[in-house]
Amino acid sequence: MSGPVLVPILGDQLTRTLASLRGRNKDDTVILMMEVWDEATYVKHHKQKIVLVFSAMRHFAEELREAGWTVDYVRLDDPDNAGSFTGEVARAIERHDPRLVSVVEAGEWRVRQDMDQWADKFACEVEILRDDRFVCSQAEFDDWAKDRKELRMEFFYREMRRKTGLLMDDNEPAGGQWNYDSENRKPPKEGLAAPERPKFEPDGITREVIDLVQSRFGDHFGSLDRFEWPVTRDDAARAADAFFAERIECFGPYQDAMIAGQDDLFHSMLSTSINLGLLDPLELCRRAEQAYRDGKAPLNSVEGFIRQIIGWREYVRGFYFNQMPGLAEANALKATRPLPEFYWTGKTDMACLADCIRSTGDNAHAHHIQRLMVLGNFALLAGMEPQAVEDWFLVVYADAYDWVELPNVAAMILYADGGKLASKPYAASGNYINKMSNYCSGCRYKVSQKTGEGACPFNPLYWHFMARHRERFEKNPRIGRIYATWDRMGETKQREYLESAEAFLDTLGPAAEGWAR
Ligand SMILES: Cc1cc2nc3c(=O)[nH]c(=O)nc-3n(C[C@H](O)[C@H](O)[C@H](O)COP(=O)(O)OP(=O)(O)OC[C@H]3O[C@@H](n4cnc5c(N)ncnc54)[C@H](O)[C@@H]3O)c2cc1C
Ligand code: SF4
Repeated sequence: MSGPVLVPILGDQLTRTLASLRGRNKDDTVILMMEVWDEATYVKHHKQKIVLVFSAMRHFAEELREAGWTVDYVRLDDPDNAGSFTGEVARAIERHDPRLVSVVEAGEWRVRQDMDQWADKFACEVEILRDDRFVCSQAEFDDWAKDRKELRMEFFYREMRRKTGLLMDDNEPAGGQWNYDSENRKPPKEGLAAPERPKFEPDGITREVIDLVQSRFGDHFGSLDRFEWPVTRDDAARAADAFFAERIECFGPYQDAMIAGQDDLFHSMLSTSINLGLLDPLELCRRAEQAYRDGKAPLNSVEGFIRQIIGWREYVRGFYFNQMPGLAEANALKATRPLPEFYWTGKTDMACLADCIRSTGDNAHAHHIQRLMVLGNFALLAGMEPQAVEDWFLVVYADAYDWVELPNVAAMILYADGGKLASKPYAASGNYINKMSNYCSGCRYKVSQKTGEGACPFNPLYWHFMARHRERFEKNPRIGRIYATWDRMGETKQREYLESAEAFLDTLGPAAEGWAR
């Protein structure tokens, strides 16, 4: 065959230097971009996420055309749209008769399984290239993970620091420590307020996609009233500029703080752009390091930011492919409770959960500690079924893709992997939320009350969780000592905790149907 090279680019591969584009001749290449029904609906994504991905794709196609590439763009409402990546690549092969299909590996297990069939399905040659936008290749991660029973992020992170040279001084970590997390747990002080992040008004392209999503996905979760995400490389760069100019200084200290109504605090809000491919994660880390070297940002903030990216982000990606497909089915704690309706409606008297769910609906975003210590902690303590919780997190966040959502949910918050990722469950009573937020002062429940009507539900749920999993956690050196406290309480107090928890759990009601799938 002598046709062109066909380069399919998926919705989260919006990077000009993508491996499949590097070194290609523009006259001999057709780029294929596809809005397909299967991807928009395999779960019922938050409306903002669908707008974000389709709008960013349409803008990227324009950018490529302006740079002289030929782009074959298939819109969702094209009457001949086959509805799947495989179907659309097959149609494009008929249109262009390519000599080669060159594609970068998909980030999701599900799509990768389909892609692996392409070479057998299609009559032309197919090459699947490694996604080298990640610092760590899968082979490297698998090599690091083999022979380890526990896959602790902290040790992986140190390897990534050495590999990239980020925050390294002559082979030693800058400042003498690898990790400054202990300086990054400041509770929010009275009157703490973060500068407003830049908001990006929808342009004509985005407005057209908003109309499409309103009409085709109107029953999906979430609001479109406040669509403010960057959808172009330039806007994403402006969002990053604002973070480095105004928020990085406080990013570290207040990383775990939560304030009702202040949805982003000092977080970067860059995950949507990084995950789409609009921002280069390593470049952001180098920029953060420069801010530290220039004396413009403190080491604890910069190290914290870099750890989230070359530590957690790289780690969960490696962990995902290392543990799939089993991770999607994992349920080590045998949790079976259905996800209650209020995760979708926000209708709960628990002020912390209500605010996090409100922010999730309004922004398709909640910051890390809200996801981990409020939404996740509650799901863990209440014993919610992992697959229902995983679906929820995949649906509701604009930055959610299976490779990053699943390890965070199954392994980090739910301990469903039995402790390969986390050395102990992230379980906490109302005390933690009270210390790190101002939620409790506006709540119908009393955080200081441990049991009975009106007690903060996190308090009895915490002990209910610990008691029902005693066998598993008693010997855990990081958490086992808690059972001495439990034993000292005596039977009456223990019974009060257990009965309070059960009375509360009985109020949660049946499964919420029809929201996720
Ligand atoms: C239960 C749960 C589910 C999550 N689901 C997702 C998800 O679907 N998609 C997603 O991108 N992140 C997810 N995260 C990680 C994290 O919460 C988000 O990346 C972060 O809130 C995005 O906001 P930000 O850009 O302001 O992050 P910042 O707080 O500013 O952090 C900077 C960057 O670090 C990276 N990062 C930080 N923590 C993590 C982490 N645990 N895993 C991977 N990357 C991380 C992100 O790229 C983020 O943009 C999840 C965390 C939890 C606890
Ligand atoms: S009292 Fe309990 S439920 Fe209410 S906001 Fe505080 S932690 Fe949440």
